[in-house]
This record gives sequence, C-alpha cells and structure tokens, in this order.
Amino acid sequence: MQEKDVTLSGEQVTTQTQKSVGAPLADALKTTCCIVGSGPAGAVLALLLARKGIPVMLLEEHMDFDRDFRGDTIHPSTMQIMDEIGLADRLLQLDHTKAYSLPVLTTEGTVTFADFHQLKTRFPYIAMIPQVHFLEFITTEAKRYPNFQLVMGARVEKLVEENGEVRGVHFRGQDGWHEVRAILTVGADGRFSRLRRLAGFEPIKTAPPMDVLWFRLPRKAGDPEQSGGRLGGGHILVMLNRADHWQMGYVIPKGGYQEIKAAGLEKLREDIAELLPEFADRMESVQEWKQVSVLSVESSRLPRWYRPGLLLIGDAAHVMSPVGGVGINYAIQDAVVAANVLTEHLKAEKVPLRDLAEVQRKRELPTRIIQGFQNTLQKQVLAKVLKSDKPLTISPFLLFLLRLPWLGNLPARLIAFGPVSVHVKNP
Ligand SMILES: Cc1cc2nc3c(=O)[nH]c(=O)nc-3n(C[C@H](O)[C@H](O)[C@H](O)COP(=O)(O)OP(=O)(O)OC[C@H]3O[C@@H](n4cnc5c(N)ncnc54)[C@H](O)[C@@H]3O)c2cc1C
Repeated sequence: MQEKDVTLSGEQVTTQTQKSVGAPLADALKTTCCIVGSGPAGAVLALLLARKGIPVMLLEEHMDFDRDFRGDTIHPSTMQIMDEIGLADRLLQLDHTKAYSLPVLTTEGTVTFADFHQLKTRFPYIAMIPQVHFLEFITTEAKRYPNFQLVMGARVEKLVEENGEVRGVHFRGQDGWHEVRAILTVGADGRFSRLRRLAGFEPIKTAPPMDVLWFRLPRKAGDPEQSGGRLGGGHILVMLNRADHWQMGYVIPKGGYQEIKAAGLEKLREDIAELLPEFADRMESVQEWKQVSVLSVESSRLPRWYRPGLLLIGDAAHVMSPVGGVGINYAIQDAVVAANVLTEHLKAEKVPLRDLAEVQRKRELPTRIIQGFQNTLQKQVLAKVLKSDKPLTISPFLLFLLRLPWLGNLPARLIAFGPVSVHVKNP
C-alpha cells in the first residue's frame, strides 16, 4: 500500500492507494464514492462508507462548517443511529440542550403537541446540538479511516459524463480545477443543489404559506428550561432553549419580510414584546437587521433521485419545511439507507441502477408522508393563525384526541422517528 501526501485547497491530504486517490494533482483523482456536500447527509454517508473500508472522497465548497441557524435538532432517530455505530455517548458530550416535549402556549392555555417522554427509546428527547459541532464531530470520526478523504473549499461545478453515465465531477479548489472519477457520485449538496440542476432534474414544489425570521435573545436566571412556542392572534413564535440564549423563530406570511423590514426594527421589537411580555425588556438586544436571519420556507421533492452513476439524497432530493424540525434527521436517514443498500455494490465497484432506485423507493414514501403532514399543518393551522387576529381555537375533539395515549403520542412518534424507523445494517 503506497501512501503519499498531496495538497488540495491548501490542506494536507493523505492518499491511500493507487486505487483510491493516488493520481498526481494534475491528473484525475480516483475514488469509489465521491460525495458532494458535507452537510448532515453527505458527512454521515461518508462516515458509514468509510467504516466499511470503501474509498470515499467528500467535497465541501466552504472552508468550514460554520452555519448560523441551521438544523440543530437531533431527533431520537438520529441518536439511535449514532448509538448503533457506537457514537451516541460521545456525541452527547458536546454542548447541547434537550427538549423532552413541544408545548405550545395558545391563548387558551398550554397544549403539548408532542411529548417524547413516552417513547420507547434511550433518547426520549430532541438534542439541540449546533450543526457546526455535529459536522465537525462526524468528519473527525471519519478521518480515522485512511480510505476517507475530505476536501474543503472544493466547489463542484460540472459532472463528468460518459455514454450517459455520471463518472465523477469537476471541482474548483483553492488551487484550481480538479477532476474526480468515481464509481458512484452522490449529490448531498442541499436545497440549492447544483448536481440536481446539472443532472437535469426538476423538483416538484409545494408552496408553504410562511417564512421564518430567526434571531437570538439572552437567557436570564429563572427562565423556563423548556423549549416551546406561542400561537394565536395573527402570530407564531418558536422559542428554543440553547443554554446561554434563546433561539427565537418568528413565523411570518410568505414573502412578508420586506414589509416587516420597511416597518422598522422598533415595530418588530414591539410586536414580539406584545406576544411575549415577559421578554419585552430583552428585545433591546436586537439592534440591527443583520441579527435577524430569514429562512425562506420551502418544500419540494424530486420525482427521480438517480441516474446511472449518480444518486441525490437529503435536501438535494427533498427540501423539508421546518415544521417538526425533521430536515436534518431525514437527510441522515437517507444516508443510512443509501449506505445499507449500496455498501456491497460499492465494494464490488459496480452499482446497478435498480439499487439506486431501491434507495429512492425506501425513502420516498416516508418523505411524502411527512411532507403531507407538514402541508396539512401549514394550511390548516399555521396559515389560519397568521391570517387571523382572533385567538386560535383548538377544537375540544382535537384536545380529546391528543389526550388519548396511543393517538396522542402519534405526533411525537412521527417527529421522533418518521413513519419508518431506519437502522444501520451490520453496524
Ligand atoms: C435557516 C435554516 C434553519 C433550519 N432549521 C432546521 C431545524 O431546526 N431542524 C431541521 O431539522 N432542519 C432545519 N433546517 C434544514 C436543515 O438544515 C436541512 O434539512 C439539512 O441541513 C439538510 O442536510 P443536507 O446534508 O441534505 O444539506 P445541507 O445541510 O444543505 O448541506 C449541503 C452541503 O453541500 C455544500 N455544497 C453545496 N453546493 C456545493 C457544491 N457545488 N460543491 C460542494 N459543496 C457544495 C454546502 O456548503 C453544504 O455544506 C434549517 C435550514 C435553514 C436554512
């Protein structure tokens, strides 16, 4: 086994054998699986394949993983996956907070839409871990395997195609263009996926009626531990306990940001203080618009997730609405299913089209079920709340259903695991 170092993007990279990444810099680099995008989907897939000894190259366009206000919600499904590969306890050593339920304060009192305590799992909570720490943790773990290679600052801009098959990618690194040749290329490059566009795929979009403004407020002694929300009177506010601060999500009608901005920061502060009088004094900490991040809420899915030599997973295949905070967890479940289905084929260096189709078949239905659930909630509850100045009325029948042990736990089970549990094959 030959070992030598090459420098890509200014990074010291150790290549393993001629079969994995042994080509001189000017020539095409070779690997078995080239993954584009080191978000939750790409990073977890890379780790799972690296653990099985498969040569993997993970290309990330940014030089770090720093992301403000991204999916930080690690659900029981992801904690179980981490447990199956022996990483759960170490992951929980990272700074985090836990949400054991999702109570929402309506004008009629507190309603708990999801209570995770009742779930049969070692991890009956949502662990709030900054995504940047999660990605650093996963990629550091992957780096223990010599067949894994991470290239930061590598922006993929073209596919390598031969006879109708995708054979790899071209990326622009810090030191110029590079070509990577691979048996399989995986597009895990997120909601604005370039690979999706290059492959000629068009997503089917639904139009959620809302956007979200994210900002931080300081936490004070005596504040509640529990994350939660406020609903009613034309407003929706989500409050997530992030230990030293509150992460606030202010849900606004779709495209309403410019109007809110034109009305001024003072008006935004007043509106939120009215909704949350106990936090009125700390609204002064929001002094500039740059402290407020806008999430344009989207929901979409691809009719087809694959072509010969190419598979799309995570947000690249389906953008999830933030309702339930499932995006990161669905992206990771896609990665696990892709690794389960494709590992043996990648070892044999041949990935039949039917197995790429199998990944889509296994993941598409759960995705469509959750997107259906999110769409219904958005249209039937959230859009109505945003349009009406009146208090939200929750029907006594819904309250009755939520109190039934089995049925009342359904939202918690759906948010925690999705309609189908995903496990790592031969962990
Ligand atoms: C503001 C905001 C708040 C959110 N809040 C939540 C939440 O609370 N809970 C939740 O579950 N989800 C949330 N999400 C969604 C969640 O972040 C995504 O569902 C999840 O990160 C998807 O993972 P992914 O790996 O598929 O894609 P991404 O996380 O988007 O990762 C894609 C990666 O690909 C890289 N990339 C893109 N193009 C290229 C290229 N051409 N070449 C190389 N690399 C490339 C990107 O830099 C990125 O690192 C939020 C999203 C946003 C924008």
